[in-house]
Amino acid sequence: MKKFLFLAFIAISLQLSAQDLEHYKRCIKELSSAKYQGRGYAEDGANKAGKWIAKEFAKVGAEEVVCQPFTHNINTFPGKMEMSVDGKKQIPGQDFTLREFNPGIKGEFKLYYVDMENYDSEKLFADLASPEYDGAFVVCDFMFSFKHFADFRRLQSKDGCSNAGLIYTWEAPLKFYKAYGDTVKDKPIIWVTPDFPKDAKSVKLNMENKFLENYECFNVIAKVEGRRHDSCYVFTAHYDHLGKLGKKTYYPGAHDNASGTAAIITLAAYYAENTPEYDIYFIAFSGEDANLRGSEWYAEHPIAPLSEVRYLVNLDMIGDNNHALYCEVSDEGMQGYALFEEINTQKSYFEALERSELADNSDHYPFAKRGVPCIFFMNENGDAFKYYHTVYDTWENAIFDNYEPTFNLIKEFIERY
Ligand SMILES: [Zn+2]
Repeated sequence: MKKFLFLAFIAISLQLSAQDLEHYKRCIKELSSAKYQGRGYAEDGANKAGKWIAKEFAKVGAEEVVCQPFTHNINTFPGKMEMSVDGKKQIPGQDFTLREFNPGIKGEFKLYYVDMENYDSEKLFADLASPEYDGAFVVCDFMFSFKHFADFRRLQSKDGCSNAGLIYTWEAPLKFYKAYGDTVKDKPIIWVTPDFPKDAKSVKLNMENKFLENYECFNVIAKVEGRRHDSCYVFTAHYDHLGKLGKKTYYPGAHDNASGTAAIITLAAYYAENTPEYDIYFIAFSGEDANLRGSEWYAEHPIAPLSEVRYLVNLDMIGDNNHALYCEVSDEGMQGYALFEEINTQKSYFEALERSELADNSDHYPFAKRGVPCIFFMNENGDAFKYYHTVYDTWENAIFDNYEPTFNLIKEFIERY
């Protein structure tokens, strides 16, 4: 009988774990679907995703779910996004991407290729001032431009040079950068792959931007009550992503960061079933890919005082198949980090925890700089990470290998810290 009970217990716990994984996958599939158009600001994609997340938190049994609004200025590209080179049509996201601060642009422009072998700054500006190339687009390798930073900064400003914009070649698959969006700069910068023609004559563009002022979005905050309420744990993940590049192209962001959002939803489900010692807050942030706007706002307006946070765990891109777990830790979080290391050594969830310098690269940062004990986990260099900030970060390319070890590492940490 005892043996039977034991087997039954194993069967149930295996089943629960499989359910968690299935739930995790379902959340990623939902959030990276066309419904949310890349969880950006065009077509209200991020806000629609936020509403779904709030419902999901309630569904898994979180006691309180609140939405915390904030506003920011943001430059978006929901409209026309056409580019052709000597008449050959280029595909947004695949053949070209933009800088987040680009203005709209329409017209046909001559192309001027920078002579990278015999570079002569004076000749470059003299050529561009000549009637032949007045108002042209300048084509150059991005790494090369980096070496001549002052010249290329001049090419980027209206007062510095009369060129209409810049085209940089960069490695494929092309990355779309952040959507900082508080400014729109003078001239557009377009990124193209190394396949871009070496001797084309002209580029035809019809690209529209839309600058949204005081656009409202929101963080989603769920709470699961513990036995004690004098301090709390916080799990965070951003749910926004890069949105759209033209009418048809969107950035699904399955790995970045539907994966982390899905993980905190399944953690909420677990703790709603298994009452923790202390209260736990689960926060899905918006505005991360627009310069950590949501987490900065929350850190300034916390629901539970930051001084009461026992530990904060931020997840941004998890579930990939790399063997080491990247982390960043605040000074106040180092004691907790030692425990994470101890658990990982005992259980061998990852080959190593690889700690790096703190950086403002995800939502732990506003908390770290305010002295909150916190850690940031990320999976880099795996097969899903290859598609970071590209149109290929899709549900089909998502990988789930590291989900369970990460989940278990966090769960055991909460039991012991
Ligand atoms: Zn991210």
